[in-house]
Parts: sequence; structure tokens; C-alpha cells
Amino acid sequence: MIYDVIIIGAGMGGLTAGALLAKDGLKTLVIEKHSIPGGYATSFKRKGFWFDSVLDAISGCNNGGWIWQALKRLGLEKEIEFIRLDPIRTDVFPDFRFDVKADIDLFISDLQSLSPKDAKGISELFSIMKELHHVVMTLPADVVWRDTRIEAKYPLFHKYKNKTFKELLDEYAQDEKVRAILCDRCAFMGLPPSKVSAIGMSTMIITYGMNGGYRVKGLTQKFPDALAESIRNNNGDIIYNTKVDKIIIEDNRAAGVVTEDGRVFRAKKIASNISARKTFFDLVGKENLKHDFIDKIENLLPSVSFFLVYLGIDMGLKGLGLNHSIGTYPSFDIEATFSDINRDICSPNASFETIIYTLTNPDMAPKGCHSLILMTKAGYDYKENWKGCKNKEAERLIKMAEQIIPNLSNHIIVQDSATPLTLERYTGNDKGAAFGWAQGIDHVGANRLQIETPIKDLYLTGHWTIPGGGVESVVASGILVERKIIKG
Ligand SMILES: Cc1cc2nc3c(=O)[nH]c(=O)nc-3n(C[C@H](O)[C@H](O)[C@H](O)COP(=O)(O)OP(=O)(O)OC[C@H]3O[C@@H](n4cnc5c(N)ncnc54)[C@H](O)[C@@H]3O)c2cc1C
Repeated sequence: MIYDVIIIGAGMGGLTAGALLAKDGLKTLVIEKHSIPGGYATSFKRKGFWFDSVLDAISGCNNGGWIWQALKRLGLEKEIEFIRLDPIRTDVFPDFRFDVKADIDLFISDLQSLSPKDAKGISELFSIMKELHHVVMTLPADVVWRDTRIEAKYPLFHKYKNKTFKELLDEYAQDEKVRAILCDRCAFMGLPPSKVSAIGMSTMIITYGMNGGYRVKGLTQKFPDALAESIRNNNGDIIYNTKVDKIIIEDNRAAGVVTEDGRVFRAKKIASNISARKTFFDLVGKENLKHDFIDKIENLLPSVSFFLVYLGIDMGLKGLGLNHSIGTYPSFDIEATFSDINRDICSPNASFETIIYTLTNPDMAPKGCHSLILMTKAGYDYKENWKGCKNKEAERLIKMAEQIIPNLSNHIIVQDSATPLTLERYTGNDKGAAFGWAQGIDHVGANRLQIETPIKDLYLTGHWTIPGGGVESVVASGILVERKIIKG
């Protein structure tokens, strides 16, 4: 049999593309190496405690957002419920805490109250960021980044498309607290303010500020499970525990795949949801690629990775002033929080995130208990590839977290951890990259790998292509792949 489409990998990008194409009536096959769908967007259970593998908050679940659009097309918008987070998060600095409100006007006025002398600059900054967000969200990426005729219509976009977020901030906000708060989620873009794209960072801040951050009600796993079920309900197939080893290339077009156990599946079109390097170098083979394309991929950098400690604890958290999502910073210098990630992840410069799932989904832990993750940015090659240091680093991170949860170490019932190597092992993402390619100015928009590839009938979906990292973006990439395939 020849499938209409084969999707390699059941991450959120692959599942979205697969579910929409199956709904369109195309005979679709998804092949996934893990035993469950979702990639990074999965959940697991340890001794009565549920954990989401990595996710904190997702965007795009509001009316009109990319996730909402996909679910509506699939008729799943009532099945998957989202909890809107307000405040979105709390930033904890020494002697100062700030709640990032989910209402953008309140967020702006809170920043202005912190630094009245910056008030005008903050207003101007937000109107620029809103314009950048508007352009990214409303125009097709391949048009807006490449078509110079757009310049006249959106001069601000073209002014900032090759600038970093620090360069944008330097023009409009001088107060160290305001700057630190605006850079608080650099960790979720994977780069410090001096490297992260002004457009990427602005889009993230405005998306969350205007449209909200969300968690799946119940458990993240419900979302990929619903997409997988939708594929099967629409006559599609999903095979788990099966790794794709090769993409069959015939006459410079993708014609099928070969799995690790030697099975051959043929298709008219193929979409890869896995690491782009693995897709092209391992599955397609360099012999089928032009030198300039090989060079381009070799010069792109994977995004940052993380060290995560999963904790099930038997203590209440009332009275500690804790929010479901907390960033803890040793100073207002967010740039410095990136400086030691390959040398000492718990150094005096390190920041860390605390994600308390049970403050939004109490059923994820037994009564009176909580499930949480501590996470900090971390290099893949850290201390000779994490040899023998995982438990020690976990203990150090737990000690750091006692700044905000006193006595934490005396209440641990369940403890597990994941290094960048663990993330790579489970999902195949190179070096445990959290967001696909890095999200600096030379890795976004037209500089990122596009959905169409130099191999005919081979497409990319997920965070190694446009728009970029994060669940909303990869769902968007799934929608874009579906459109390309349907258009032929
Ligand atoms: C620590 C951390 C925190 C994050 N926090 C957030 C957050 O709060 N909000 C947010 O929106 N995003 C967050 N992200 C990013 C987000 O999780 C990812 O960008 C997104 O989930 C990636 O989806 P994807 O479609 O690219 O596929 P992936 O999740 O990368 O999945 C790829 C799938 O392909 C499978 N696969 C790989 N190789 C093969 C093969 N050869 N054959 C078959 N199958 C294969 C894998 O098993 C996997 O299931 C975070 C990421 C990390 C690591």
C-alpha cells in the first residue's frame, strides 16, 4: 500500500499535521519511536505523583490562537480544556518579587509604576512589540522575512528584524528591574538578551501578555492523546516503539521510509517532525544533498537544554506566596544567568524555574501533596557529559530552591531528574535542545530551515523549522505543512 502521507515522529508538530491531513481524507501514517505520543509534551507517573515532562505554560489556546485553530478544525475544542494562568508567573529577585499579570495593560502599568521615569519609553516599547507581534502572527513567514516590498508597509519590522532584544530594550527602558522583568523568559527562548532575536522575544511577550498562558486541564498528555485518537478516528495509522532509520529517495524525491526493524512504508509525501540534522544527515544521507545545504545545516546551532528535577512532596505550600510558575534570579542581570551553564549550573549566577503543577491541577498528586519541577539551563557537554554528577547537581538545585520553599529537602517522597542527555534519549532532539534551533537573529524567520526542503515531497514540521520553538509554534508548523501538502 502507498500512504498519502507519512509523518516521522509524534511530537506536537507531527501530530497536528497528521491529524489535520487525516481529517482532510488523506491516508496518513505516523511512526513514533517512543511508546506514547507527544514528544516533549508528555506526562508520566511516579508512585502516585503525575508530572508533565517539561512544559510550564503554553500559548495559542485563546480564540484565534494557532492551537485553538487546530483543535477547532479537528472538532476537539471542547474535549481539551485549558486553564488560563493569571498571573502568568512570578519573578523572584533578591528582596523583590513581581507578578507578571495576564492582562497586558496591567502588566505595562505595573512596569511603569516601578520606574516612572521610564513610563513613556515603556509605552513606546510595548507599541513597537505589539506591531512586531502583529506582523509575525498575521503575515506568512516566507513573505514577511523575504519580500522587501513589505518594508514600506511595516518599517518597524524591518528596523528590528536583525536586532537583538537587548538592542531594542536599550532604546526604551533603562531601569534595571524593568529590564530584568522584560527579559525574565529569555530561558524559554534559550538565549541571553544580547543574543535573542528582538522579534522572537517581542512576539513571545506580547502573545502571552495579550492572549494568555495556559495549562491543559487535567494533564498535558491529554492533548497529544486526543490528536493521536483523532488520527485513528479518521482512518489514519500510528505505529509506536518504531524508529525510522532511513528516508527512501528516488529521483530526488522522498518516496517512503525504512524502520529500524527493516519494514518499508511508501508514501506520496513525507513530513519529518524530528531533529533536522538527523532528518537530513542520517535519514536522507549527505549523498542526496547539495554542499551549500549541508553547510547551512552544519552552521546552525541547537538551542539551549535544561537540567530538570522532578519532586513529589508531602507538604502544603500555603502562606509561601508561591505561584504555579516562578523564576528565581540571583540579581537583575539576566545576561549573567547564561554565563555558567556549561561550567557550573548552580553557580551564584544561575537562575532556576519552579513549576508547581498541583497549583493548577491538584489531582496530579495525592491529597495534601504537590508535584513540581525545578529546572535550570544546562549544557549537554557539562562535566564530561554528566558523568557521575546528576544526583549531586539535583541536591544542589533542591538546596537553591529552599530560598522559596523552606525545608523542601525534608519533604521529598518522589525524586527523579533529567539531564540534556535524557531529553535527547527520549525525543531524539540533538544535544537535548529544548526549542529546536537557537532563536537568535540568524536562526529565525527566513534564516531558519523552511517547511519545504530541497528534497521534493519532503517537508519539515516541529521546532526545527518555522515559526520556531514552543508548543504553539510547532502546532502552527503542523498547520502550515498541512496547507502545503493539500495545495500540492
Ligand atoms: C525543559 C523544557 C521546557 C519547555 N517549556 C515549554 C513551555 O513552557 N511552553 C512551550 O510552549 N514550550 C516549551 N518547551 C518547548 C516545547 O516543548 C517544544 O518546542 C515542542 O514540544 C517540540 O515539539 P515538536 O513537534 O518539534 O516535537 P518533539 O517534542 O521534539 O518530538 C519529536 C518526536 O519525534 C520522535 N522521534 C525522534 N526520532 C525519531 C525517529 N527516528 N523515528 C521515529 N520517531 C522519532 C520522538 O520520540 C518525539 O516523540 C520546553 C522544552 C523543554 C525541553
